[in-house]
Amino acid sequence: MTTEKLYQLIAADGTRITSTTPGLFGGYRKERRYGRLDCKVARRALQNGALYAQQRVFFADEATAIAAGYHPCPVCMNPTPKPRKRKKR
Ligand SMILES: [Zn+2]
Repeated sequence: MTTEKLYQLIAADGTRITSTTPGLFGGYRKERRYGRLDCKVARRALQNGALYAQQRVFFADEATAIAAGYHPCPVCMNPTPKPRKRKKR
């Protein structure tokens, strides 16, 4: 007998879906933030307290997270900094 782990996914309209797969992105409901599942900030927070785990949500993809009103995690969702280029006029 196996007990499947269930994840709480958030749909684009904010409704919660219980799923057996975590989706592509994890989120923190309290701060309305989403990020990668292996985000080091989220991992550390999960180790530190039960509160974070309670507020942990998941998204099927990034578009869903944005549609649900979540913001990208500044640590793991930070786009790689590009060298600044001067625009020619
Ligand atoms: Zn992150």
